[in-house]
Amino acid sequence: MTQETPYRAIVGLEVHAQLSTASKMFCSCSARYSGAAPNTHCCAVCLGMPGSLPVINARALDMGLASAIALNCEIAPLSKFDRKNYSYPDIPKGYQISQYDEPLGLAGWVEYQSGGELIRWDITRVHLEEDTGKTLHTQVDGREVSLVDYNRAGVPLMEIVTAPAAGTPEQTRDFFASLRQLLMYLGVNDGNLQEGSMRADINVSLQLPGGEFGTKVEIKNLNSFRAVQRALEYEIERQSDVLSSGGTIEQETRGWSEADEVTVGQRSKEYAHDYRYFPEPDLPPLRIGDDRVREIRQTIPELPAARNQRFREQLGLTPLHAEVLTRERPLADYYETALAASPSVPPRALANWMTGDFLRLLGERDESIESAPVTAEHMADLVRLVEEGTITTPAGKRVLEELFETGDAPAAVVERLGLAQTNDAEALQALVQSVLDTHPALVETYRSGKTNVAKRLMGEAMKASGGKANPEAVQRLLEEKLSAG
Ligand code: ZN
Ligand code: MN
Repeated sequence: MTQETPYRAIVGLEVHAQLSTASKMFCSCSARYSGAAPNTHCCAVCLGMPGSLPVINARALDMGLASAIALNCEIAPLSKFDRKNYSYPDIPKGYQISQYDEPLGLAGWVEYQSGGELIRWDITRVHLEEDTGKTLHTQVDGREVSLVDYNRAGVPLMEIVTAPAAGTPEQTRDFFASLRQLLMYLGVNDGNLQEGSMRADINVSLQLPGGEFGTKVEIKNLNSFRAVQRALEYEIERQSDVLSSGGTIEQETRGWSEADEVTVGQRSKEYAHDYRYFPEPDLPPLRIGDDRVREIRQTIPELPAARNQRFREQLGLTPLHAEVLTRERPLADYYETALAASPSVPPRALANWMTGDFLRLLGERDESIESAPVTAEHMADLVRLVEEGTITTPAGKRVLEELFETGDAPAAVVERLGLAQTNDAEALQALVQSVLDTHPALVETYRSGKTNVAKRLMGEAMKASGGKANPEAVQRLLEEKLSAG
């Protein structure tokens, strides 16, 4: 979509991620705002009543620390909260509690995959703050009104700010996706982009190679992989058109219109001094010692990149299987639970079944891995039955569909449907002979030298057995009988 341009884009992201805590950042109100009746998850603190006092949510602090550590940040031994002052209907206090000049985490980096390349993006800072309420512009009795719901006001947010870097729209999308994956692995964010659990503000400026930095434009509130990529593509094209025709870029904030696929100017960018930041007088500074950092570090699970590497190197999975199975932590956990339940099952065979028929059936039913009707233990049993030769692969596929329907144990399904593989020599002899007898023309063709029709005879034999005949035995018998002429 993007035209060839002499400019390269310098991109920086500010990602806001909601922390998956039960309660809000500075009060004990429920942080679950969606679905609740408006203004029912509120109290004096999150409504900013005079005299109310905030208290730091310890769980949110732990989650922020774990994220900053996983993003390779230095943890500030001393940080503090500040008031960011501005007036807007959805911010009842008239200020947001955030962190200004002394954030929790500094100077980190993260590596992510894009287009088969491992790329590093530097992280400038990670800080904690609170979300705003929601304004709803609607009509009541035919009158245009604006309504405010404060259920979201005070929900814990973590803001991750990257350093500016040369980045294409695809790379920026992949970075955003890998950040989401990381936060979901850490269990600090639910990854629900449609509900705005993670949203990115993206700064972009254009630069001629070797030239000065251009003026940056901020695109606000991008909350899907597609929006990140398309908004950047559009903005790069827009700015390069302006510059090529001799114009200048204005520093401004733009929004992304999903419907029209364009960025739209909203307001001129405000500067930090506009916010009149000052230290939050009602909260103590945060002192984080080395012990605390060590403790939190121990709670960090194996992260996606390391797990992917282990799946390839220790379990011998293909890069594709490793990538698919580690994309989401619950799927990787399911896979490893299954392996542990049946150690005789070859990891590659299990990976093959899971990335193939298992994920397909899950997708067709619109189920998530957490709600999968088949347990990891049953999945391992099924693959073991196939690997041990108790059932054939086609029979295994039937059994798997049945497992999705009933949740029964694989052995019981094999028994009930009579799918056990036929190894009985006499029965197989009779089966192969009857296939040859009913397809004399194919036999003729084979004997005239076109031996690849053996595949069709094989297919006929397997079909006639209802997928139950031992395929290797059938093949052997077919070859014997055909060459015996
Ligand atoms: Zn509250
Ligand atoms: Mn922020």
